[in-house]
Amino acid sequence: MLEKEEFITFKESLSKQNVRLVAVSKVHPASKIQTYYDFGQRVFGENRAQEMAEKYEQLPKDIKWHMIGPLQTNKVKYIIDFVDMIESVDRVKVLKEIHKRAKRIDRTVDVLLQLHIAEEEQKHGFTESEVRSIIETKEKFDHVNIRGLMGMATLTDDENKIRKEFNSLKDLFAQIKKEHPSWETFDILSMGMTGDYSIAIECGSNCVRIGSMIFGQRPKH
Ligand SMILES: *Cc1c(COP(=O)(O)O)cnc(C)c1O
Repeated sequence: MLEKEEFITFKESLSKQNVRLVAVSKVHPASKIQTYYDFGQRVFGENRAQEMAEKYEQLPKDIKWHMIGPLQTNKVKYIIDFVDMIESVDRVKVLKEIHKRAKRIDRTVDVLLQLHIAEEEQKHGFTESEVRSIIETKEKFDHVNIRGLMGMATLTDDENKIRKEFNSLKDLFAQIKKEHPSWETFDILSMGMTGDYSIAIECGSNCVRIGSMIFGQRPKH
């Protein structure tokens, strides 16, 4: 855990660069989240729907919960009432389910489209052409607000490789913005975690998802 001063200094350095912080609290208990809430943090990231729903019940209601893990369609119902953003939309089926459930409760939910930019097979996400075809048909999903793109780089010490992967995502983000100049809410490029956030920011990220640096090592499940 960081001391209050350390945390605030870190957060200020990010906001000076116009980078938002998602504090990734997955696996950690509500009490630790409360500590950072008391330091002023409001945006927390979780990767399991039920765990997020339990923490939502226990913690202050002005927390903005970001889903950052692969989401099964049958889990959308656990979070649809309160989730602030679903960053990990990686299949059209999931997008449709979010739209359907959001419409039912008359909400519009912010989402990011997750791109597969890493070499590793197990990382999730769309290809560039899949993202483009979703964007062409985005009017169909009027209870979903596509706010931008998310991606994870390969876990490697090869900085050039990480940079290349982040740059490919930044380029796609910039192209889409250019092709849709009036789409003002398409404004979030979420990339960077504890190990690679500095590179991600250099490559144009404006939203970092940081867990272990803030909360310490995650206990194993
Ligand atoms: C766990 C996780 C993070 C945070 O990882 P750290 O290395 O602990 O900062 C960021 N993004 C996603 C999608 C995650 O699953």
